[in-house]
Amino acid sequence: MKVKSLEQVRNQVILSQDGTPFVPQYPGGVNYYRCTGCGECIKVCPQGCIELQEVEGKKVAVLTNIELCIGDGFCKIVCPEDAFL
Ligand code: SF4
Ligand code: SF4
Repeated sequence: MKVKSLEQVRNQVILSQDGTPFVPQYPGGVNYYRCTGCGECIKVCPQGCIELQEVEGKKVAVLTNIELCIGDGFCKIVCPEDAFL
């Protein structure tokens, strides 16, 4: 489809592979009480948004480059502790 205007681009719906509308899953933060510092979210994040840092004497996942997040939601899906907000 040839794009005609900026308004048309804004109104486009991005589809998932199964044809349903793609809804971004941006993480709102990490619950440090739940996070065990396993690092699984860091391994799957394609944008390098997450790092392990020491918070109150405990290694936890911290969203350090959230401006690069594309909302794929991989971090939320993979976390075994359901620590993402
Ligand atoms: S939603 Fe995707 S890009 Fe954003 S922090 Fe999670 S894994 Fe990284
Ligand atoms: S996957 Fe979950 S428990 Fe593991 S480091 Fe990331 S936020 Fe913490």
